[in-house]
Amino acid sequence: MCKPSTIAIDGPAASGKSTLGYYLAQRLAYLYLDTGALYRAVTWAALQQGLDISDEESITRLAEDVQIDVLPPAVADGRQYTVALGGEDITWEIRSPEVDRAVSPVSTYPGVREALTQQMRRIAAPGRVVMVGRDIGTVVLPDADIKIYVVASAEERAHRRLLDRTEQGCAPSFEQMLHEIRRRDEIDSSRVAAPLRPAAESILFDTTALTKEQMFDAVEQLVNSFACHASAEARSSGGGRSD
Ligand code: C5P
Repeated sequence: MCKPSTIAIDGPAASGKSTLGYYLAQRLAYLYLDTGALYRAVTWAALQQGLDISDEESITRLAEDVQIDVLPPAVADGRQYTVALGGEDITWEIRSPEVDRAVSPVSTYPGVREALTQQMRRIAAPGRVVMVGRDIGTVVLPDADIKIYVVASAEERAHRRLLDRTEQGCAPSFEQMLHEIRRRDEIDSSRVAAPLRPAAESILFDTTALTKEQMFDAVEQLVNSFACHASAEARSSGGGRSD
């Protein structure tokens, strides 16, 4: 049976893209890469080293030198994967409010993006990958077999983030969360290098009013319909894919 080999999922913070991406990767037994984790790891390292977040040159050098590994989950504590930096497990540290605040400014630096994009492409090269981020369909994997752009209202996203934060033991107010989400949307979509925007051929997915189960059903239908479409094309041209 013909299946898409590379799946790109983009969208703003807390739109549901990681939940969808992780689900799809599990269903297809593909590699899952949440690229936000790489930007977060660089940001965390910069904060740890006491670098000024506006010091583009030092942070770019850091992104070029740092060794970040995204590995299968090492601990059963609800994580989708383990993020290690120089061997240290920083999976939860990169989700802190400090990293949340600093990650979008760090992600505007073209040198940081270049260094991380190269890593992402290397990881995706063998195929069978679901990659999630802001610029996967537009820049990192422009030839992805399926491109999905996930959206949800800012209020719904702030509500979801608030639940995550509360589970992690911090309790910002809804207004703080909404402000933070809008600020990140603004920086991510207005930056010059690889701004957040849907790829021309992406499929729009609005998760605002969907339960997780409804999201999963819808994305599964999408992948299955790709399979039918691609198989029909392969039959009519006498060819076929080998996976
Ligand atoms: O997805 P997540 O919220 O973890 O991403 C954190 C930040 O990393 C985003 O707000 C964005 O600034 C940056 N990012 C990016 N390009 C990606 C993935 C994430 O600029 N492909």
